[in-house]
Amino acid sequence: MRTVRTVPEARDTLREPRRSGQRIGLVPTMGAFHGGHLALMRAAREACDLVVVSLFVNPSQFNAADDLARYPRDEAADAARAEEVGVDLLFAPSADELYPDGFDTRVEPGELAMVLEGAARPGHFVAVATVCTKLFSIVQPHAAYFGRKDAQQVAVVRRVVVDLDLPIDIVALPTVRDADGLALSSRNVFLSPAERAVALALPRALGAGASAEGSGGDPVAAARSVLEAERGLTIDYVTVADFDGPTLCGAIRVGATRLIDNVQLSR
Ligand code: AMP
Repeated sequence: MRTVRTVPEARDTLREPRRSGQRIGLVPTMGAFHGGHLALMRAAREACDLVVVSLFVNPSQFNAADDLARYPRDEAADAARAEEVGVDLLFAPSADELYPDGFDTRVEPGELAMVLEGAARPGHFVAVATVCTKLFSIVQPHAAYFGRKDAQQVAVVRRVVVDLDLPIDIVALPTVRDADGLALSSRNVFLSPAERAVALALPRALGAGASAEGSGGDPVAAARSVLEAERGLTIDYVTVADFDGPTLCGAIRVGATRLIDNVQLSR
């Protein structure tokens, strides 16, 4: 696996494979790889000739400076794991490389980005849409791989590629969970064992919501009642949204950590 840090290096590395007709897959990430990231890389490895992983902790995606400062970073460990699953190219640019002095253009998604995560984190999806568009332009992948864990993000990125006529297949993969049901997330490392026990109410609540839906009940009410019965968390939102079909989405705070999760509903 090769690691490159500049846009020209990335372009140079990809020129010949593209010219010779290789299928290029991109997995955009912020590093701190876990099983969710690795599942995306493996799926890209199976379907593509050349797999590019971008590792960029996008400063503009964070609302609080402390959240950015404490975001877990371990590029050496990430590179080793990516290489193990057969990634060909790791693109790990600096913030100055992607946002040099004078940078002044943004991609602004519309209504889809105003609700839920967009409402809770102002500017978040502008940052996501802008950085994804830049990565798509630099790498020019045939396919890009995203996790359903961030269901609204998948919906926003799909909208961007349709609206901007980008010829890229957006592939969405199921959420990878720990054995106890908690969705894998780079932020889980911040949870103490006691907080983690509380956080498990989120997948439990979404499961209860999906069952209620299956038996003709109200998924939001069922999920909410599980969360309300748990001490030590605050509910940010629980709602059904249309992200690639009806999806029961929840966001909670446990201590200083904010967690999101979702399940698809079969309607
Ligand atoms: P991040 O590094 O958090 O920006 O995530 C990079 C990609 O991995 C995004 O497409 C996420 O949706 C995806 N991802 C994060 N957690 C999971 C998970 N538990 N299961 C599947 N995909 C995930």
